Amino acid sequence: MPSQHPRDPLTNLSLKIRGCTLCKLSRTRKNAVAGEGSCSAKVMLVGEAPGRQEDLEGKPFVGYSGRILDSALSKAGIKRSDVFITNVVKCRPPNNRRPQSNELIACMGHLERQISLVSPKIICILGSTAYRSLLGGKSIVADRGKIVEKGGKRYFLTVHPASTIYNRSLRSALENDLSILAREVRKQPKRINKTKTRR
Ligand code: URA
Repeated sequence: MPSQHPRDPLTNLSLKIRGCTLCKLSRTRKNAVAGEGSCSAKVMLVGEAPGRQEDLEGKPFVGYSGRILDSALSKAGIKRSDVFITNVVKCRPPNNRRPQSNELIACMGHLERQISLVSPKIICILGSTAYRSLLGGKSIVADRGKIVEKGGKRYFLTVHPASTIYNRSLRSALENDLSILAREVRKQPKRINKTKTRR
């Protein structure tokens, strides 16, 4: 009999997401895109939803926005393989429309579970849909570059790579923000000195 290898919880969750039928996007998708990356990543990047190429390949940020993201990560000295990349909605909305609130609500449990399993040091929000869904934020352009703490988690805010396609200043903003994020992640937490001094 072939030996059974127990799967890790993140892989199990990805399989569950791939078979998810919690909302109507499951009827039009080709592949649900659970996310990918290191299960011990210090940084989790959260975008909006898969686009056409992501839907075809079942992987996040592999189309044009993905190339912009990869370039910004590499300029910031962040390796894609060191982070975990996902979206607030795991299935492509038809014609790349914005995800609807019922779809965001249906999918939120998957993201919450991913966050609790990966337990990143910081969650990098990419764009206004992720900002609104996770933090109730309004203007990502106004708030980008900031770190926000909520519910015991730390979030870093930046613009969505797609929003930088026709806007060079937003492209620089994204690149600059990811460099700030890289510096933030490199910072070591202060050590608590537990050594007792003898009298
Ligand atoms: N845009 C997103 O928000 N996510 C992807 O995975 C691709 C494009």
